[in-house]
Amino acid sequence: MVHQQVTIIGGGPAALTAALYLSRAEIKPFLYEGLLANGIAAGGQLTTTTEIENYPGFPDGLTGTELVEKMKAQAERFGTEVITETVAKVDLSSKPFKFWTEWNEDAEPITTDSIILATGASAKRLDLPGEETYWQQGISACAVCDGAVPIFRNKPLAVIGGGDSACEEALFLTKYGSKVYLIVRKDHLRASQIMQRRVEKNEKLEILFDTVSLEAKGDGKLLNALSIKNVKTNEVKDLPVNGLFYAIGHTPATAIVANQVDTDEGGYIKTVPGSTLTSVPGFFAAGDVQDSRYRQAITSAGTGCMAALDAEKYLAELE
Ligand code: FAD
Ligand code: NAP
Repeated sequence: MVHQQVTIIGGGPAALTAALYLSRAEIKPFLYEGLLANGIAAGGQLTTTTEIENYPGFPDGLTGTELVEKMKAQAERFGTEVITETVAKVDLSSKPFKFWTEWNEDAEPITTDSIILATGASAKRLDLPGEETYWQQGISACAVCDGAVPIFRNKPLAVIGGGDSACEEALFLTKYGSKVYLIVRKDHLRASQIMQRRVEKNEKLEILFDTVSLEAKGDGKLLNALSIKNVKTNEVKDLPVNGLFYAIGHTPATAIVANQVDTDEGGYIKTVPGSTLTSVPGFFAAGDVQDSRYRQAITSAGTGCMAALDAEKYLAELE
């Protein structure tokens, strides 16, 4: 039976940073980066975007893929073993933990003293007609990441959603857009009172309640309108917008540990505040899989570092 001291599941900034710290501490980590796991390439969500301008240390920016390739090379330089397989099943019920990859699902499990889960999350999408054509050509699921790009400057923009994220993203976008519409399917916002007040006070923001989206439209290259419907009056119209941001929630990739570790109501792994410790000793969580709020490359890398230090301490205590 193959046994590993520490296994990292995931291939984004959280996993790669954890791997860098562990390998520099001379604890050889085995990192399963996935093979299109959860529909995302190895390297994680950053591989689905273009320029990254807010990761410190790169004043001229770089592409998301370049950034994660550099992180991977840095982790490998110190001895991380990267395995391009998806972890299919994990058993946390006894020590050592057991897991199976998609290629050895029927075979002997691999055993491990500790696991760092860094499988990320994916933004929920609406699958509107036109969405595929204009994804990253006007449509995005991250205003903080993409809001500052030139195609959105001084242009009308729309955010779909009525929660805190939608309000926060809409407020953020008022810095760049000429006007920002907040498109809310119900007759009220779900966001906290303070957020609602901020949105209502902002003169650049207009809330369209009782409104659902029907189609993303454009010239074939860039988005220029969103077809919307008022569900009370049934009026359908095209709203001219050059940017459309989804803020309708995220889905954390936690299926492989379902019912084995505590999660919040959104399915995010619960960690002890200020650490990456979970309800299962020896099982750590880093990055977007445990973060419903910040969801940035730098915060994921930061918690990846924390997970490595937490795992190192755990392994030392085991000895
Ligand atoms: P992820 O990047 O989600 O990576 C998780 C990885 O784990 C994926 O490769 C997945 O395939 C793999 N995986 C999942 N399940 C398994 C499994 N069972 N076995 C093995 N592997 C598995 N942040 C910024 O700071 N700046 C930006 O400009 C920016 N732009 C963005 C643009 C877009 C379009 C998106 C979607 C996000 C953007 N972000 C940006 C957010 C940033 O990408 C995420 O916060 C960050 O990538 C999260 O890192 P992570 O390591 O937690 O997980
Ligand atoms: P959320 O609270 O789940 O809100 C999601 C919003 O998207 C809801 O308004 C929902 O509408 C809407 N929605 C879902 N599916 C939709 C669809 N198919 N079409 C149209 N609209 C749809 O998610 P979130 O805003 O990302 O917040 C997640 C958590 O993080 C919350 O606990 C939040 O408080 C927290 N958060 C806090 C802050 C902050 O405090 N600064 C910032 C961001 C997030 P309905 O209301 O109709 O269901």
